[in-house]
Order: sequence, then structure tokens, then C-alpha cells
Amino acid sequence: MSFNIQKIRNDFPILSRKVNGYPLVYLDNAATLQKPQLVIDAIVDYYSNYNANIHRGVHTLSQEATDAYEAARQKIQKHFNAKESHEILFTPGTTYGINLVAHVFTSELKKGDEIIVSAMEHHSNIVPWQMLCERTGAILKVIPMNEEGALIFSEYEKLLSEKTKLVFVNHISNALGTINPIAKIIEYAHKVNAAVLIDGAQSCSHIKPNFQELDVDFYVTSAHKMCGPTGIGILYMKEEWGNKLPPYQGGGEMIDQVTFEKTTYAGLPFKFEAGTPNICGGIAFGAAIDYLNNIGFDAIVAHEDELLEYATKKLLEIEGLRIYGTGPDKTSVVSFNIEGIHPYDIGTILDKLGVAVRTGHHCAQPIMDFYKIPGTVRASFAFYNTLEEVDILVEAVKKAKMMLS
Ligand SMILES: *Cc1c(COP(=O)(O)O)cnc(C)c1O
Repeated sequence: MSFNIQKIRNDFPILSRKVNGYPLVYLDNAATLQKPQLVIDAIVDYYSNYNANIHRGVHTLSQEATDAYEAARQKIQKHFNAKESHEILFTPGTTYGINLVAHVFTSELKKGDEIIVSAMEHHSNIVPWQMLCERTGAILKVIPMNEEGALIFSEYEKLLSEKTKLVFVNHISNALGTINPIAKIIEYAHKVNAAVLIDGAQSCSHIKPNFQELDVDFYVTSAHKMCGPTGIGILYMKEEWGNKLPPYQGGGEMIDQVTFEKTTYAGLPFKFEAGTPNICGGIAFGAAIDYLNNIGFDAIVAHEDELLEYATKKLLEIEGLRIYGTGPDKTSVVSFNIEGIHPYDIGTILDKLGVAVRTGHHCAQPIMDFYKIPGTVRASFAFYNTLEEVDILVEAVKKAKMMLS
């Protein structure tokens, strides 16, 4: 299929709006992706035509909503090649999924056990493990990274031992764009019988991970970073873990029988899905996955790589500009600073010119501490961005530099 950028852009109503009198150039895709009309339509269709609570209703609307919600779960299962659809647990998003695992893993740990995380984690990936360590007496170990912004694999190997119970790494760093070698990370963790949880929030709009092939134990992601709505995501939990680990929250949906003496829990996935879920969100997530697959991940990555290469080259022509995250394996994120100028000031001027970028520590303060900087300007590209938009960004950065130095 040929990659028709103009046709793709027409699918996204927001891309034709203006900001501060300029056409919007949306380069904050690592924070959230924009939504195609097809996803917006799925949301409107659900609330207009078959909104109902699911799983227990005998009436038609409830059955239609249940069918659509469970069809979305199967679609997601197929997309990620999970063995069973009940290994796909719907959650409110990545952060929730990580907290769920960190909470239910309490029963697996004892004092002196070790959890390994990477040095380039999002805050949502650091705090839950610190809390788990406080509860259990386990110890948190950190895989260091190098100047290029890549993990040092030999240091990871040294950290692994029979004390390691869980390894936690993001698939792609949201602050640097680095793609981590998760297949190898999982393989080495399994050699010492440690479980692995991968944060795929940043990867799933660029890469189609294959859960069975990776043999990953847990994998989390958010729909809003895959063109779907906010407030919905998945936690993939390998069946053996799902059966073994205790429930997270108690409530409706997650029970089998309830009396005041004893409650028995429902099987997977409902054991981990207490309460009325985000039904519409799940259905719209399914629509977003269809949309991405229809364009094709190979075409998406080829286009994004072209944008990344061009933006890197053009930005580096600006004197005093430094890019953070320069390893060979990275996605379309350019995190940079200009010598002597605060990233926030650059971001503010770019916004005046219609260019949306992120500035700050990107929820990854340890990375900023590593480089001894307060933050960066981060331009992150999606498949709907164009080379012309890169030119607009570069001109805007030059203008900001002139005004601020
Ligand atoms: C966005 C992001 C998260 C948090 O996702 P939420 O949808 O806010 O829960 C976690 N990790 C990475 C790498 C991210 O990019």
C-alpha cells in the first residue's frame, strides 16, 4: 500500500486547525497521539446507539455492547499475538497497569529479593517499585545508561542473580526515543527465573510487539498513544501469572460467588477487572488498532525514520544545539537544548508560531540529572507529520534562538 500522507492527514480533523494564527504543527506525539475520525466516530456511535452496561444484561443493548467490547479484546489479542484473549486485561492505562503488577507482586517477594529497573524510566515506572520495596524489604537495582542514552547491557548482566525476581524496562524511552533490546533483556532475565514487565506506552505506535515470541510475562500500554482515547489501556498478563497472582481491587465483575463468609473470584480476565469498565474506550481502542494496521507498521516506521533523519540533520546545523539520545536504535523523538537558553523559553516561542513541542523533564528526572540539565525541548514525530513541518520547526527554533540570545 502506498503511503499517502495527505490522505492520512485528512483523517485527523484537528490537524487542520490554527494555533495563534498559524497552522498547527503538532510535534508532541510522545505525550499523546491525535485521533482519526474513525476513532471519534466509534465513540459517538457507542453513546448514540448502544450504550449499556456489559456482561450481565439480557437485553439487546447490553448484548451488543458486550459483543463489541469483547470483540475489541480479541482484536487486541490478535494484534499483539497473545495466546489467549483473557491474557489481555483492560486497564485505565499504562500507569494503572504498572501499579497493578507492583501491587499484586507483593506476595511474590521477601526481604533481600531484588527488582531491576532501567535508568531511563518514566516516573510512573519508578515510584510503584519504590513502594513495593518499602512493603516487602526488596531492593531496587538500576541498569545504568551511557552518554548516547543507551542501556549498558554488560551492567545489566552483572545485576542479574538468583535474587532477581522482577525486571522492569520501557520498550522505548519517551524522553530520548531509545529503543531498548527487550528480547535480549527478557531472555537473560528468564535465565535466572525472573519475571519481566515491559512498559510499551511509547512503542506501540511504532512497533508491533509479539507477546508470544518475546515470551514476556507482563506488558502494558495506553490506547491514547496509539490514536485511541485516554483512560483505557491494557495489561498483558501471561496466563500462569494471572492464575497465580491475587486480585488487585475488589468489586463487581471480579467475583464468582459472594457471601459474607467467603467470596470466590471470577476467572481471567475478570479477576483483575473490578467495576464497570471503560466500555466505550475499549471499543474505540479496537478501532484505533484497525486504523494503524490499515496504514501498516512498516509504512509508519519508514516515514517516521525519514522525518527523524531529516529533523536531526537540520537541527544539528543550528550552532550550539545538542541532541540527547543519539544511539543507533531510536524512534522519531528529538530531545534537544541550545546552549545558554532555557528549554521552556524555546517552547513558549514555538507555541506562538503554532508549533507544539514538550519542554521539561518529560517525567524522567533521573535522565536529566544524568546529563546535568534542567530539561530538554522534545519534538516527537508521528506518521501524520510531514517534512514541511520539520522545516517549520527548524525555522521556528532559529527564530527563538535569535530572540533569546
Ligand atoms: C506516557 C508514558 C507512560 C504513562 O502512560 P499513561 O497513559 O499516562 O499512564 C509511561 N511510560 C512511558 C514510556 C510513557 O511514554
